[in-house]
Amino acid sequence: MKPRIGFFDFTGCEGCQLSVLNLEEEFLELLDLVEIAEFREVMSGQTDSLDIAFVEGSICRPEEEERLRAIRAKTRTLVALGACADTAGVNALVRFRDAHQVRRHIYGDDHPHLATDLPRPLSEVVRVDCRIPGCPIDGREFLDVLQALLMGRPPELPSYAVCVECKLAELPCTFDRGDICLGPVTRAGCAAVCIAGGDRCRGCRGLIDTPRQAPYWRILEEAGLTEEEILKEFRTFNIAGKGGR
Ligand code: SF4
Ligand code: SF4
Repeated sequence: MKPRIGFFDFTGCEGCQLSVLNLEEEFLELLDLVEIAEFREVMSGQTDSLDIAFVEGSICRPEEEERLRAIRAKTRTLVALGACADTAGVNALVRFRDAHQVRRHIYGDDHPHLATDLPRPLSEVVRVDCRIPGCPIDGREFLDVLQALLMGRPPELPSYAVCVECKLAELPCTFDRGDICLGPVTRAGCAAVCIAGGDRCRGCRGLIDTPRQAPYWRILEEAGLTEEEILKEFRTFNIAGKGGR
């Protein structure tokens, strides 16, 4: 019998699930190896047991918490799919705003009926077995993680920074063109895609395990940034407490 996998979404833009679907031919080839038992974006079926659940989005409402617990209960291996699920992602930025005003801004007159709690990563509600970082995820990394799980070994994320991938690709350093970049402290695995495209790293894959933040802060200060501007950079994808010196 093929392993049964499912995809689930909570609060997020569904871009991570789209990254899986965008694999196109490789996604279809997966059907030789696994049975896709639940995937709301592409099918209507449901199941009461899964080998692997890929769960996207952060948890913002009591009913979401209940649904996530039910997914956990029927799943052997639960994977946090993308930054929203892994760290609460950009959703967590609401922690630095007036939540009431944010709801009014997004939902208009309906906002009293759409009350939400502060966004939480999956791991604050249930046990998460592994994670795929990024906003959105990298489809190749999804395939690597799935392959590892199917072979019964723990998936490994790169432990080095985006800077390393940038240097390997011989890209010019973002700092040298007068811009700031989170590449020195952000986990690699995206092939420095934003820098290759002429932008800068905004840290969507989260911090590496042992970021050398003190020297990095000095570099940012030398680039003329204030403490508040530096914290703003860190907080885009790395919520409170993870961007300090
Ligand atoms: S991590 Fe980014 S791409 Fe994925 S669901 Fe959240 S906002 Fe969308
Ligand atoms: S370069 Fe940075 S912001 Fe862009 S995908 Fe990679 S980790 Fe995310």
